[in-house]
Amino acid sequence: MIIAVDGPAASGKGTIARALAKRYGLPHLDTGLLYRAVAANVQRLELDPTIEADAVAACDFDDHLLEDPELRSDEIGKYASVVSAHPLVRAALFHRQRRFAHQPGGAVLDGRDIGTVIAPDADAKLFIRATPMIRAKRRHAELRERGSQVSLDRVLADIRARDLRDSTRGIAPMAPANDAALLDTSFLSIDAAIQRAVALVEARTAAQVESP
Ligand code: C5P
Repeated sequence: MIIAVDGPAASGKGTIARALAKRYGLPHLDTGLLYRAVAANVQRLELDPTIEADAVAACDFDDHLLEDPELRSDEIGKYASVVSAHPLVRAALFHRQRRFAHQPGGAVLDGRDIGTVIAPDADAKLFIRATPMIRAKRRHAELRERGSQVSLDRVLADIRARDLRDSTRGIAPMAPANDAALLDTSFLSIDAAIQRAVALVEARTAAQVESP
């Protein structure tokens, strides 16, 4: 079974994807980490993320980099959103994601274009949303916990800028697939959001069994 979980930053898609992977015993790939690794490599090599050839040169990274906690920083997230708009960067990362999705037994992938580009044939597709302010508050609380002094206004502005860049780029823009189930987590606890996600996956897969 392939499960595609898409949505914007801090919508809850990562938490939901991990919970679904655990529940169904499937491997999970956070595809945002791949773009974050490219962004970190661009920074390390002192390249320019806005130049496609520079970003492509940074696509060849060691898998160990994916475990670096630094990849999760907001600064790297911002750069990731810049490098991810280059078609050649997306092409360089495409097969790796596709292979992961189509491994025997299936997988759960979360990102922005899983249901639309990487696995349009997924058995269940979820698009997770929450209002920008609620997402900003979640991210702000996380950053504060890690000792950051950043203001809520700054985090909200960054979230809006990233949403705009990710949803208006020319290639694989962030958007729900036509057959995706929408899940708004704005007013749901983590447990309630996971329960809803499981119910949506069950409904999708049950419908497929009924009409093969
Ligand atoms: O999900 P995360 O915040 O880690 O993603 C970082 C950035 O990587 C996103 O803002 C987006 O620009 C890019 N991304 C993407 N396609 C994906 C996953 C992430 O373009 N499937």
